[in-house]
Formats: sequence, C-alpha cells, structure tokens
Amino acid sequence: AIRVEDLHKSFGHLEVLKGVDLTARQGDVVAIIGGSGSGKSTMLRCINFLETPSSGKIVIGGEEVAMRADGSPANQKQIEKIRTKLAMVFQQFNLWTHRTLLENVIEVPVHVLKVPKAQAIERARELLERVGLGGKEDTFPAYLSGGQQQRAAIARALAVDPSAMLFDEPTSALDPELVGEVLTVIRDLAAEGRTMLLVTHEMKFAREVANHVVYLYQGRIEEQGPPAEVFGNPQSDRLKQFLSSVA
Ligand code: ATP
Ligand code: MG
Repeated sequence: AIRVEDLHKSFGHLEVLKGVDLTARQGDVVAIIGGSGSGKSTMLRCINFLETPSSGKIVIGGEEVAMRADGSPANQKQIEKIRTKLAMVFQQFNLWTHRTLLENVIEVPVHVLKVPKAQAIERARELLERVGLGGKEDTFPAYLSGGQQQRAAIARALAVDPSAMLFDEPTSALDPELVGEVLTVIRDLAAEGRTMLLVTHEMKFAREVANHVVYLYQGRIEEQGPPAEVFGNPQSDRLKQFLSSVA
C-alpha cells in the first residue's frame, strides 16, 4: 500500500504540489489524470524520491519514509529499499542502450538485490516471455519498436518483484499502432492484483482498468472517485472541461 499525506513540492518559487493526499491499498489501480503541468509526474517522482518533497508524509507498505524538516530523505538506505519496492516505468523507456534486453532485466536484481545470476536470468527469460518478447533476449533496444522497448521496460520493472508499480504516461511516446500492445500488458498486471499508480492520458483505458481515479488540477486533487463517477458523472466544472478537452 502507498499513502501520501499533505504532500507539497515547490521548485524555487513555483509551488507545484499544494497538499496532495492519496491512498492506494494493496491491489488498487489508481489512475491519475489532469492537464499538462498539473503536477502528475512530480507527484509520482516524489513518491519514490526521484524528487525531494518540500513537505508531507509518505508511507510505503506501512513504513513511513523518514524525512528531514526540509523534506529530504533522512535515511538513504531506506530510500534505496523503497525504490526496489516501487518500480517506475517512464514515458521514455529508459533502457540501457548498450545492453541486451536480458542484461537490462537482470541488472538490478543481480547488482543491487544480489540475486544469484543464474536465477536472475531464468526469471528474466520468464518475464520477457510474459510481455511477448520471448526470443529477443539477446537483442539491443535500438533494434526494437517503441512498443517492444516499453514492454521490455515493464519486464525490467517486474524483475525486482515490486510491491507497487508507478507508470508515468507509459504509452504517450508511442506511435498509435503500438499503444495497444503495451496497454494489454498493463491490463494483465492490473488483473493480477498488482498495486499501481498510473498517470495516463488514455481516458478509455483509465476507465477500464482503474478502480480509483484522481483528477489533479494545479497541484491539488480537484475530484476523485470510482471511474464510473469521475468519468460518467463529474461534479467539478474543471473536470468536466478537462474531460471534454481530451475526448
Ligand atoms: P505533463 O502532462 O505535461 O507531463 P505533469 O502534470 O506531469 O504534466 P509536471 O511534470 O509534474 O506536470 O510539472 C508540473 C510543473 O512543475 C510544471 O510547471 C513544470 O514546469 C514544473 N517542473 C517540473 N519539474 C521541474 C523541475 N525539475 N524544475 C523546475 N520546475 C519543474
Ligand atoms: Mg508528466
């Protein structure tokens, strides 16, 4: 489970997150929607401390992240542990270009988590098979389509056996014909009961896979609820406007 309380984040004078509260219980798929610049990426990045929050409280799997008064992590070891529990998948696939897919997937398990190499390789083969990349283990990322690269990035994220996954617009850099294959993989993970926070501009997909939808507007949660309500019966005028602009 992930719990965020009263999260604030400023970059200099720009206050990007103005007190966000969010809970994802085990198995929840929370879709985060909102306009460009509303703070969606910043929120995800604060949750795994890729950005330092300005203030607030973050609790991962019952464990509160120790922060100093300025929001910086008090305990680097704890942050490293949290990063291995929360696997993040970005818009840009962020694969290591000079390594094969198999090497990409085993890197963190072998070098950070100290999983025996043979075991990591076996697991990596299973994961690549799972995302439809069986047979591509020895291929370098540059020889793959964007959709294949993103599926490899998902396999790599799964290799740490994360307790939750954070997706930041995983399909927005893809050609339209490649979006479906990546959404299929994410849909399967959701059906498996994986806890996920998913920033997406694919409203149809959010409606289908999420059990909770959060609409962010200028650094605050403007409205949230089950997808049927957020999409089917939005209350706030801003949300109504947003939904009609993306439809
Ligand atoms: P998009 O839909 O375009 O991805 P977003 O909701 O993810 O938007 P963020 O990337 O979180 O928005 O950005 C929120 C605001 O914070 C923007 O005004 C952005 O310019 C600003 N911002 C983000 N990262 C930084 C940074 N490292 N330094 C300064 N400003 C930043
Ligand atoms: Mg973003």
